[in-house]
Amino acid sequence: MPQGSLSVWQVKYGERVVRRSDVLHDYAQYGVPDGNLDMDYNFWVVRGRDNGRDTTILVDTGYDIAARDWLGEISVTPPPEGLDLVDVDPTTVDMVITSHFHYDHIGYLHLFTNAQVVSGRVEYDYWFGKWEAGALEGEFTTAENLEPVRKARDDGRLRLVSHETEVFPGITVYPIGGHCPGELLVRIDAATRGLILAVDAAHFYEQIENEWPFFAFTDLDEMKAGLAFINRLAAETGAEVIPGHDARVRDRYPAAPGKAAKVANVLA
Ligand SMILES: [Zn+2]
Repeated sequence: MPQGSLSVWQVKYGERVVRRSDVLHDYAQYGVPDGNLDMDYNFWVVRGRDNGRDTTILVDTGYDIAARDWLGEISVTPPPEGLDLVDVDPTTVDMVITSHFHYDHIGYLHLFTNAQVVSGRVEYDYWFGKWEAGALEGEFTTAENLEPVRKARDDGRLRLVSHETEVFPGITVYPIGGHCPGELLVRIDAATRGLILAVDAAHFYEQIENEWPFFAFTDLDEMKAGLAFINRLAAETGAEVIPGHDARVRDRYPAAPGKAAKVANVLA
């Protein structure tokens, strides 16, 4: 396919307001004022052409906030409705890249019954190990969340990635620890610009600008190394970094056209 023909839209499905000091690790050490951050809940739609046919790839799926607001999330547009507004039929999606296995990222994976699922091998081993050990209690994922990953594995649709890998022409994933053991950073060479979808390796712009860790981590040193890696990769490739949960992304990128404007912004 012609390199650089990809488009990337961000689709918002939920929101909440958080305190900086609640979500940034050891915030008091920085000696800067506290305040609120507007937190969005998103997934991403990448479209392109491969061997003459249209291809649709999702990064994450969102989850059903109405069924359970884990942390006080507010439902804005349920993901099935959001998918409809951006003209994506989940049964025809070619690939779903899961950034990691937390509830807000894979909660609707069961809708994508024909997609190849791309996940981090370390992420898979970590969460399936916990599931098999009956140790998911108190974690940010459930057996119900992991079931569609198991189904994809049993169908032969699961691709586990252990190192930097171009999973589709123009889309490269990088395993990165910290927030979760095997998160995938997604770099996209899109038509108008390069992008790095940091997802939960960096929730907010402050974290990228200052390399400030998030409060929720499995390994703090890995999270710090991950933030440094994101900035190195951005400098090397010229890509713009998109933090995964920052409402200000919507101020920096235009709304999508037509009915999609209700839920989507055009990142590239
Ligand atoms: Zn998240």
